[in-house]
Amino acid sequence: MFLDRFIGLLSIDMGIDLGTCNTLVAVRGEGIVLNEPSVVAVWKGTNKVLKNGQAVGWMAKEMLGKTPGTISAIRPLKDGVISDFEITEAMLAYFIRKVTGRNRLVKPRVVISVPSGITAVEERAVLDSADRAGARRTYLVQEPIAAAIGAGLPFSEPTASAIVDIGGGTTEVAIMSLADIAVCESVRVAGDDFDEAIIKHMRSTYNLMVGEQTSERIKIDIGSAAPVGEETSMEVRGRDMISGLPRKTVITSEEIREALQEPIGQIIDTVTKTLERAEPELAADLVDNGITLAGGGALLRGMDVVLQNATGLDVRIADDPLTCVARGTAIYLENLEELKGALKSDLDV
Ligand code: ADP
Ligand code: MG
Repeated sequence: MFLDRFIGLLSIDMGIDLGTCNTLVAVRGEGIVLNEPSVVAVWKGTNKVLKNGQAVGWMAKEMLGKTPGTISAIRPLKDGVISDFEITEAMLAYFIRKVTGRNRLVKPRVVISVPSGITAVEERAVLDSADRAGARRTYLVQEPIAAAIGAGLPFSEPTASAIVDIGGGTTEVAIMSLADIAVCESVRVAGDDFDEAIIKHMRSTYNLMVGEQTSERIKIDIGSAAPVGEETSMEVRGRDMISGLPRKTVITSEEIREALQEPIGQIIDTVTKTLERAEPELAADLVDNGITLAGGGALLRGMDVVLQNATGLDVRIADDPLTCVARGTAIYLENLEELKGALKSDLDV
């Protein structure tokens, strides 16, 4: 009895959404306990993380864009794959330790959601990193599955659910049924590409160079995928490409929508392609169940409308799409035994 309670105090269950833009950690009974950018600051040309491995997340983000020549800020998962194992490991270790606190006796059980396109080598690297960071047990769950659970979809039932998760670096589209993924596609076009398209537009139309943070601000403040709500405008500051001097200009929501058409078109194509690959019975279910949007890109105004128009299906946005995967990961962990059971019994059928 006493020993059980003692072990209970030392054990902690963590669900981690290792995203290309943001990493979130959810703990059973406490909800989201960490939400930081997936960024690490290193000495240029090395894998050495600054400040004794502490220059991660918010601290590193502050350095991004303002880094002197000797430091680079790295987003190790930028394209939805792990571009740098060592740095990913440092980041994961930092976040896990931040949640468990200084107490090295606490050995968490960890479920990490990973992009469905991840290779076996990358999977192994994530598992090993979590082990080295002090996890007692580590499990991986595919991101669309975590998103479906977080969005409350009936993903383990014999009916199809469709998830479109638009993150920073990648968009994942998956059709699931009976606790498994039937078809999925991952494309390296997402929120970052919206920012990039805005930077290009500012350059080509106004000869104005704007930074990544400004272009993200423009997207969030006045960006849209379809004309919904009132059209607005915004004052933007940057550097004139010809004179090299600081300058400002006014831009409208219409022109930003136009600038975003290309990456949005690529996301729409990926969604329709995935739907075309679904078995007829699953496709039939989607007529009733529709599509659910998750990830930060789901918050772009009118994203649901353009997908609805392109597919003819109902499209709804998950509650709090930015935390959907992390919450789903924690629920997955709580129901690990049951879900594993469900998966096994499906295989037995
Ligand atoms: P990931 O899972 O890849 O880490 P997220 O799901 O956290 O990505 O989404 C991050 C992306 O969502 C970024 O490109 C960010 O600019 C975008 N984003 C966040 N909020 C909004 C918003 N209100 N409108 C449009 N895009 C948004
Ligand atoms: Mg994500």
